[in-house]
Amino acid sequence: MEAERHEIVVIGAGVSGIYQIKRLTDLGIDAIVLEGDDDMGGTWYRNRYPGARFDSESYTYGYSFSKELLDEWHWNERFSAQPENLRYLNYVADKFDLRRHMRFNARVQTMIWDDVEHEWTIELQTGETYIARFVVTSLGPLSMPTLPRYDGIDEFAGESFHTYHWPKEPIDLAGKKVGVIGTGATGIQVIAELADKVGELKVFQRRPNWSSPLNNGPISVDEMAAIRDRYDEIFTNCSASPGGFEHVPDRRGFWNLTAEERIETWDKLYQQSGFAILAANFLEIFFDEKANQEMSEYIANRIRDRVDDPEVAEKLIPQDHGFGMQRLPLETRYFEAYNRDNVHLVSLADAPIERITANGIQTAAEHHDLDVIVYATGFDAITGGYDRIDIRGVDGQTLADKWSESPRTHLGALTHGFPNMLMVAGPQSVSGSTNFPRAIEIGVDWLTDLLVHAREQGATRIEARLEAEQHWVEEVVRAHEKMLFRRSKGWFTGYNSNVAGHQEGKIRYQAYFGGSPKYVAIIDQAAADGYPGVELV
Ligand code: NAP
Repeated sequence: MEAERHEIVVIGAGVSGIYQIKRLTDLGIDAIVLEGDDDMGGTWYRNRYPGARFDSESYTYGYSFSKELLDEWHWNERFSAQPENLRYLNYVADKFDLRRHMRFNARVQTMIWDDVEHEWTIELQTGETYIARFVVTSLGPLSMPTLPRYDGIDEFAGESFHTYHWPKEPIDLAGKKVGVIGTGATGIQVIAELADKVGELKVFQRRPNWSSPLNNGPISVDEMAAIRDRYDEIFTNCSASPGGFEHVPDRRGFWNLTAEERIETWDKLYQQSGFAILAANFLEIFFDEKANQEMSEYIANRIRDRVDDPEVAEKLIPQDHGFGMQRLPLETRYFEAYNRDNVHLVSLADAPIERITANGIQTAAEHHDLDVIVYATGFDAITGGYDRIDIRGVDGQTLADKWSESPRTHLGALTHGFPNMLMVAGPQSVSGSTNFPRAIEIGVDWLTDLLVHAREQGATRIEARLEAEQHWVEEVVRAHEKMLFRRSKGWFTGYNSNVAGHQEGKIRYQAYFGGSPKYVAIIDQAAADGYPGVELV
């Protein structure tokens, strides 16, 4: 079969890939998107589990690039759910006629760099081959789900699936005994949603997570009209904030206020929606151990107020990390789920899982009979999507090898030794730490400008300079070191117990935590200076 040639191949038709192909085709560049799934939408195509919804305000999550689109789309809820989110992405693709540039069931298996011709050869699982001058990876930071490595996992006779692979066809869980393993942002959403819809729900919790109310609600036609009028202001506010939200950090100074004044502030934040409790909190909670402890105790007391059984409440309160030190899950009546007779918390800290059996889960203490097991066990975050492709750069070096200890990039966008591979939402960009679409629009625009610049220069090979990469890695490490969360587990610090090679306590520097405004200032300066960290040939 002859290889199909394009100037640019984009990999992944999720939130990033959709905008990337829009930008490229608007410029008249010959580009296509290769998508492994049988349809577009990425994270919102896959995560169909009950309760899956934004925890960014819907109107700050949507694309900002088209006024017409902003005027046409009505968000029904403040934090919109998966079906509506997928409809939105399809609406965008149809409106701008983007589907014709997308190939589905096109899972990329290998990418091999040719340093003579200056092009990538991309082979799919199907055996089809593409050749492209440039590849833009928009693989998604959370697209590689991970299952636990328990014995017997294949022996379970009932239905079992990772939340990322929740079946497309509706499944009837009424009256069933359901086990959920995992209490991250996903687990917390799905547990709260399933509690009153299943016969019995057992939650297998290894470590509890802090969580606070999402405070969702509908958006009326009038409210949506007011939001539309404010879109310019909304996106300006998002671009000024570290996390890409409208919330503004409280800069009055934690220690300038009395303990009562702080509680008064937190009482208000607890009623607000979304990430206000983090992003509009005192900045000190992220840097000052004592401030963080006081905040954590406040949230612990809220959990104690909401959970009837004091023993269960204590088990739901994290002891090994403070509030906001891992990615904060947002919840809707999650803690109240444990007040129901049919919901049971199984603390794996007391009795770990020994194995999965044909009809349930065996812990060190007892056997739990189950009809369905839901694995809400997370992802090989940020670099997982890269690791599943065999990517070979200059002199046959593999990307997996280069990044085996920790990823290394220039501005989260390029990596030395892998010319003409440009990453949207790549490792060490700001995407992992920001309201995602806000960061990807920034990333896509920057990469597109770089591609245009390269074409204008007649360059056929662009590569991050080694010293520029080293400089950025040091900046990423410096930003991490300032944050208290550097000592916690979880994907912020690049740890997943289910991934071979990850070591507890060893940080993989996967995201830039210096805040979006600082990141934008740095990458904009690089562009204004003619991309000094990138060699063009
Ligand atoms: P996660 O935060 O990594 O949580 C995984 C959970 O599974 C943790 O509770 C973990 O326990 C547990 N776990 C993993 N392996 C286990 C094992 N072998 N045995 C027992 N328990 C195990 O994953 P996630 O909840 O899917 O969330 C990942 C990210 O996706 C979030 O942080 C967020 O960025 C994104 N997300 C976003 C939304 C949204 O925007 N609305 C919703 C959901 C998820 P330990 O804590 O002990 O490791």
